[in-house]
Amino acid sequence: MKAAVLGATGLVGQRFIQLLNDHAWFEIAALTGSERSSGVEYGEAVNWRMETPLKKEVAELTIQPSEPKQLDADVVFSALPAELAQGIEQDFAKAGFTVVSNASSHRMDPDVPLMNPEANFKHLSLIDEQRRERKWDGAIVTNPNCTTAVLTLSLKPIYDSFGLRNVIMSSMQAASGAGYPGVASLDIIDNIIPFINGEEEKVERETKKILGQRGHSAEFKVSASCHRVPVIDGHTEAVFVQTEKPATPDEICKSMREFTAEPQKLKLPTAPERPVIVRPEQDRPQPRFDRNEGRGMSVVVGRVRRDSVFDGVKYLALGHNTIRGAAGCAVLIAESMKSQGYI
Ligand code: NAP
Repeated sequence: MKAAVLGATGLVGQRFIQLLNDHAWFEIAALTGSERSSGVEYGEAVNWRMETPLKKEVAELTIQPSEPKQLDADVVFSALPAELAQGIEQDFAKAGFTVVSNASSHRMDPDVPLMNPEANFKHLSLIDEQRRERKWDGAIVTNPNCTTAVLTLSLKPIYDSFGLRNVIMSSMQAASGAGYPGVASLDIIDNIIPFINGEEEKVERETKKILGQRGHSAEFKVSASCHRVPVIDGHTEAVFVQTEKPATPDEICKSMREFTAEPQKLKLPTAPERPVIVRPEQDRPQPRFDRNEGRGMSVVVGRVRRDSVFDGVKYLALGHNTIRGAAGCAVLIAESMKSQGYI
């Protein structure tokens, strides 16, 4: 199937290209960029920041403007800045394209599935309502904000087994989460930035939409404090949880270790064998050692222990922000959609 990437030169766009290279179902057919890069060969326009080399056939593709008329694709992956995504993604869906987006613009639209596939596979069927109500053949489906993707994957097994009453999350977020060139090196080296615009609100509302029933946000409370730290890739989150039913740290670990969902059952190409990996060591997870678990699609949890304030549990969760938190999650969503006949 032909895949297009909108905003292909940015960090998330590059991650898409890396993940779609040699993908079993999708082939890169078109790339778009801003006026700065339209008409230029991809290899010339991009400042390639991935660990693996850029393939010659992709480097030779000419970047196009983000206009539906000019593209031929079965699925469109969007890595556009949010302020542009709002209108451009709607134009694509109106023109009949299926858009899987990383941008925040449509995440909270009631008829747009906000998907972290292992956590809420069933929400995909909102696409039927969206097509009916908006009278278009295309679709817009979004993935969560990167911090929310990591948080919801770690919470899902707990929520299913014990219920959730209150969740507090304090993040240590990688510099790549701000795109490229992102935060100036003089601001982030030897430093922590204690504010990420809009991030805490996104985590609080998106977590409840993902873990809620289709069309209804979950009832539990979420409070987030988000911070940028001098790590290149991998968001680490300190999570404090009060469950509905009492649960010991061992029971929480067991629920996480045993957790699998539809993407694993369907053996989707990008689904990690184990969505949540629990490390027993006191000094794990660490971004440098653990962010690539499950090819960047697993969340690694550690230090699961009792929390005396909530009489609940607390733990650390780590996930790769541009893979599980962005491009990898979007590719898994597209695979999920294909498996259900939506693409
Ligand atoms: P980025 O590195 O700043 O890249 C932005 C991209 O948008 C570039 O490819 C740029 O192309 C392109 N662009 C700008 N104006 C455009 C236009 N008019 N038409 C088409 N393309 C245009 O940002 P990023 O980190 O990749 O993030 C992309 C999106 O994903 C954002 O909405 C972000 O919030 C979201 N996201 C990011 C992460 C993360 O961890 N980084 C995680 C989840 C979600 P040119 O190079 O041609 O100017």
